[in-house]
Order: sequence, then C-alpha cells, then structure tokens
Amino acid sequence: MLNFERVKIEHEDPEKRIGSFKLEPVKGYTDSEAVAEASRCLGCNICTQSCPASLDIGGYIRSSAVGDPAQTVRIVFENLPFPAIIGRVCTHLCEDICVLYDTGGPIAIRHMKRYAADKFDDYSQVLNIPRKRFIGKKVAVVGGGPSGLTAAFYLSVQGIKVTIFEKLPALGGFMKTGIPRYRLPQDVLDKEIGFIIDQGVDVRLNTEVGKDISFKEIMESFDAVYISVGNQKPRMTGTPGSDAKNVIHATEFLRRASFGERIDVGQNVAIIGGGFTANDSSRTSLRLGAKNVHIMYRRRDIDRPGYPSMNAEEEMEEAVEEHVDYMWEVTPFEYVKEGDRVVTLRYWQNEMVPDKGGRAKPIPKKDRVLEMPVDYVIEATGQETDYSFLGEEFARQLRLTPHGQPITNEFNMTSIRGLFTGGDSTNLNRDLISAVRDADSAVQGILQYLNVMDMVDEDHLPILDRWKKYSSSSAKIAFMSR
Ligand code: SF4
Repeated sequence: MLNFERVKIEHEDPEKRIGSFKLEPVKGYTDSEAVAEASRCLGCNICTQSCPASLDIGGYIRSSAVGDPAQTVRIVFENLPFPAIIGRVCTHLCEDICVLYDTGGPIAIRHMKRYAADKFDDYSQVLNIPRKRFIGKKVAVVGGGPSGLTAAFYLSVQGIKVTIFEKLPALGGFMKTGIPRYRLPQDVLDKEIGFIIDQGVDVRLNTEVGKDISFKEIMESFDAVYISVGNQKPRMTGTPGSDAKNVIHATEFLRRASFGERIDVGQNVAIIGGGFTANDSSRTSLRLGAKNVHIMYRRRDIDRPGYPSMNAEEEMEEAVEEHVDYMWEVTPFEYVKEGDRVVTLRYWQNEMVPDKGGRAKPIPKKDRVLEMPVDYVIEATGQETDYSFLGEEFARQLRLTPHGQPITNEFNMTSIRGLFTGGDSTNLNRDLISAVRDADSAVQGILQYLNVMDMVDEDHLPILDRWKKYSSSSAKIAFMSR
C-alpha cells in the first residue's frame, strides 16, 4: 500500500547533544526506514533540475528503494566524491522542489546519501575505479576544500598528476573549518577525503601560496591550475569596541573550534548576523559551555539568509531546541569595554520600513538604548575573497565581475589561459554542492585545455547538466504517466 507520509527522522535529545561535539543531532535511517522512505518517490526527477551538481537523484532514490546502497553510492559518485558529507550538510534545495512537499513531506533526499554512504567504510569495494597510468600532465589545485578535492578526484582518476596546496594543517576547507564536528564528524571527513587522496593525489599542507611558494612558480610548474580558495577574508562590523580581546569573527571562531581548541566563551554570548554561520557559531558556543546564547539580526526572521528553505527551517528548529535565543530586528551599536574586554553590548530595536520596490529596511529606534551583559561577541557578518596571493602580475590579468568574482567561461576557465576556478570565491550560491558543480565543470574544461579528451575514461567523467534531459514538460509527463 502506498504511504505518503515521510518516514520520521529521529533526533538526539537536545540536552544531551549540547554536551558534546561528537553527538550528531540527527540520526541516520535504518535499512527498513531507508527503503520505506525511498519507496515513496514518484520518479519524476523534478528534483534533479534543482540540484546544482545535477546528481541523478531519481536514479539513486530508486536504488535505495530496492535496498541497493552500493548502487546509490555509485550513482552519487558520478558527479560527487563525498556522499556521506553532503548527505549530512547539503542545503538540499532539491527537497524544497520535491513534488511530494505538500503530500506527506518531500523525499528525504539528503538522508538517502548519508544512509547509503555510511554502509561502506571503504568505497573502493563498491566503485572499482581502475588505477590509471600517468598520462603526462600535471595540475595544481590551490585550496583543499570541497571544490579543490572534487577537481583533484576526477582529474586523478583520469591519470592526471594532481598536487593540492593547502595553507592549513588539514584538508577539507570549509567542510573542516566552517562546519562544526557535531554536524560533520571527523571520521566522516577522514573517510571521504582519504578516499580522494588515495587516488594518487599529492598534498602539501601548511603551504600558503603567495608566501611559502609563489603563484607564478605554480603557474610555471604545472600544465593547468585550479584555484578554489573560498572566502577567507573576514568582514568585521567596525562597531566601537570591536578591537576587544573577546570579539572575534565567526570564521576564526569556528576554525579554532574545529581544530579542537576549548575557547573560553564565558556564560553570555552574542552572535551578530542571521545566516547559517551565525547558527553554527551559536551551537558551537553552547558546546563550549555558554549558557545564554543570542543571535542578533537586524532584519526579520523571514529576511534571514537562506530563508525560505527547509534547510533554514531545520537549522533554526535545532538551534531553538538547544535554547538559542533569536533576537530579530536589532542593531548592536557599541561593545562597552572594561579594560581590553567587552562586558556589555548596547543595541537598538529596529523598525522595518517598506522600501520602494525593494526589501524592507531596518531603521533603528534610537530613542531607547537597550543593553545586555556579554562575555563573548562573535561577528558572523560575512567574508570575501583575498586574491593578493596571486601576486601583482596575475591579479592584474584576472578579470572580475563588479561583485568581485572571477569571470569564467562555461568550463570555469578564467581570463588567464590555463587558470580555472570554482567554489565560494566564484559562484554566488556559496554552498558545498555548487562548489562541487564548479569543479565538475572545470574538470571537463581542464581535460579539454590539456588536449587529452581522447584518453579520457568516460565512465569516470562528471556528467554536467544532466537536468537538461528533464525539461519541465518531460518531468510533467513522467509524473503523469505513473
Ligand atoms: S521530486 Fe520526484 S524524483 Fe525527486 S524525490 Fe521527489 S518524487 Fe522523487
């Protein structure tokens, strides 16, 4: 009998989970739950049209429905080399578009990947990737995050010698330093990054390009270069008092916590900003011992970054369960210091005023000053890319959009021949799955640029734009023919 209700996803007790970085808030599906959930799928493939990396979602939900997680892993690997990671932290916009959204809830597409990937400790048993011999070309990847790792994987399996240059002591980029361990456990990172490196990738950790090695030397020593450096330069608010010792940018805070530092955040923490990074900072603060954690955002909840989406709802729900306090429509204007530490945060309540043709604007009501005690302030107010590592010569040649992203062709090649780029520094989505998509596309571009397409093993070449197969009318017909 058809069951239209989404199979419930179990959560850990919030009181237990805030005591540990090791306890994942969301539990995985069991075998029977995964089969039951996947069996609800109608196979229309509308979701594939919303996946930035064009994963064959209908295909792997089908294999999950017949209890074949190995096939699910194989299908995901066509475009993405870390199913367990993305199965935990993807923004899963595919679920927002699932035709079952209002009929029992969308298929738990993200969870299907996690379920299947967690079944295997070693993907080599499942994937059977032939060890290709070196085909005489070398590619450098600058930045060992999701985009760089994806490019390194799909190039290596084609016999290209890839070297990753990473300035930190560990690979993973934002997956390692920006997503806390309770959402993305270290053993999951180790398993999937390890499998990528095992394809013969050379890794140079603690190597900062522009300092330990010049970008020019990299361009001269390799046949092509892929840069995937993310947005590493924090944007601080400049609020009076923000030079205090206990004011920090969220990227630094999360990075230090991700390497296991027990940061002393005290009892009262204020987080400035309303996006996913603010959420991660709030829940990390709780796990570091904070008792009162406030997220302060200048607009309304419906204006926050990522809204409306299931992902934004889920993340906020989990934070609320852990007693994070959301303060909407507020403007912090002064961090009051005693010595070199902030002790009080002053803020105004805002009024949202309709703006002609645009978003409502927050206007502070300055007649009333509000205050609260703080032991630690975290500014989750965005970051930008710093291209100074390129050096003057290449920085001059790199053409950027008015927003500061490199201009690329359809295969992610920049205005500099042989230089490709992708990830958060390049696309405006700034999520993991879009970083993967950039790398998939750059892999095709690099192989073409190196003139080795005749040697390519097509079975292991990322499939671009699969969604084009499913026009909206074909998706409709597929849906109606069931
Ligand atoms: S959109 Fe269609 S194919 Fe995709 S998960 Fe939902 S029902 Fe299945």
